[in-house]
Amino acid sequence: MISQSSSVPSVPLPQPQVMPAVESGPMPIFTMKPASKGKPPTHLADLDQAGRKKAMQEAGFPAFRADQLSRHYFERHEVDPEAMSDLPAKVREDMVAKFLPPLLTKVRDLKADKGQTIKSLRRMFDGAMVETVLMRYPGRATLCISSQAGCGMACPFCATGQGGLTRNLSCGEIVEQVRLGMVAAESGDLAGGPTRVTNIVFMGMGEPLANWRQVQAALHRIIEPAPAGLGLSARNVTVSTVGMVPLIDKLADEGLPVTLAVSLHAPDDELRDPLIPLNARFKVGQLLDSARRYFVKTGRRVSIEYALIKDMNDHQWRAQLLADELNSRGRGWVHVNPIPLNPTPGSIWTASLPHVQQTFVDTLEAAGIPTTIRDTRGSDIDGACGQLAAEVVNTSARAQKAAEAAERVIAAVSGEANEGKMSSVSRDL
Ligand code: SF4
Repeated sequence: MISQSSSVPSVPLPQPQVMPAVESGPMPIFTMKPASKGKPPTHLADLDQAGRKKAMQEAGFPAFRADQLSRHYFERHEVDPEAMSDLPAKVREDMVAKFLPPLLTKVRDLKADKGQTIKSLRRMFDGAMVETVLMRYPGRATLCISSQAGCGMACPFCATGQGGLTRNLSCGEIVEQVRLGMVAAESGDLAGGPTRVTNIVFMGMGEPLANWRQVQAALHRIIEPAPAGLGLSARNVTVSTVGMVPLIDKLADEGLPVTLAVSLHAPDDELRDPLIPLNARFKVGQLLDSARRYFVKTGRRVSIEYALIKDMNDHQWRAQLLADELNSRGRGWVHVNPIPLNPTPGSIWTASLPHVQQTFVDTLEAAGIPTTIRDTRGSDIDGACGQLAAEVVNTSARAQKAAEAAERVIAAVSGEANEGKMSSVSRDL
């Protein structure tokens, strides 16, 4: 996903390897299969309350200690045994070592937006990197979290997508990002002093619905009140997807009224096929139908995320087509968030010009679609999803891949260019 949003912000169905149906040369290959072996240590946050009690007994402690330890972790965000004075001193350290193993080790934090944004890069047990972005806004603080190390969706404009999927994160690793973000906010790490995290967006590295079972469990831990979980309002939690249609229906069935954000980026299959390789499997029409079903089932208005990429998808006629597609499925069920693209370092993918952005917004609004351009927090610290990790791992190789992917998209849409619809693409790229 593209983690640039201000209020919101990208699977098990065990999925087979999926090849894009529309190919023009060597298209990206994406897979749901984690590349690395081994599992992170089991953590309290991996378990539901019944599981915690059982594990506590199996470890030789009374079952009621599970709730005590859970309150330290989920309510007080505490992992220091010294601070757990209601637990017997002689077992605290042992209990914490068993149930709260460190899952994420700080590599570095980068601040931007005058200290209102902090992007954190952390290392997991196997060396895989994960990143989280904490953003302060008037009246709220939003945490953008990752659901996978890397991403298998291979979106060509995205730095994370160029590196492929390293592995799925465990529920504990996802929840621990949230707890660490809460600690940072409460400790006053953001400019403006201590605050509380109010909003969670699954818009960091990865396609959340491609790691469905762990994300499903993490949603319960994030939303359920202590001692079961962190107690955030479901209405302030957003799950994004590039189009895992069957999992959107599963999310709707989950009974958690979270916000669904669909990373659409193109209203027509001709462009979305090369831009979002998953579109080869689930077309725009299927995706919008499932988004509409989500609204009907949950009553939650769906967000359509649309990265505005210069001369690629930012045409006025595409804004009109998007409005027509949305309005054909009813009124009042959807909100569009155009996001000027944060370019991958060294890449030719770049943001639309301001007047083009405005025309895009005006067209949608004239058609009755509520539309808000998202700001691009952290753009001076590589604010798009995956970019911090990309920089650490190998910037130049990813930039090269992104450039090659851009060329493939241009080739795929060359038919349109010939028809005059995309006449400026080749000129400017
Ligand atoms: S490659 Fe993955 S992280 Fe990047 S935009 Fe696509 S779904 Fe999101």
